[in-house]
Amino acid sequence: MGNEVPQLTTSDLERLAAKVVELESQLAQLQSLMSRIDSNSYGKCESCGMEIEMEILAADPNALFCSRHFSTSQNLF
Ligand SMILES: [Zn+2]
Repeated sequence: MGNEVPQLTTSDLERLAAKVVELESQLAQLQSLMSRIDSNSYGKCESCGMEIEMEILAADPNALFCSRHFSTSQNLF
């Protein structure tokens, strides 16, 4: 008594596993962001190489496309 260790249930483990997946995807995003900063391609459109508009980067710092190619990139997924 007074020595109760909370038992992890299957749903606890599933929630933790989902959290790990979420964090791993955030980490992957950060790593790709950092590699783009390193290679000086951050803020350039992956499609045309032009600078991505500031308002797009402000809305999504991970944006890969300028306003002209943003909508086409959405259709890929
Ligand atoms: Zn573009």
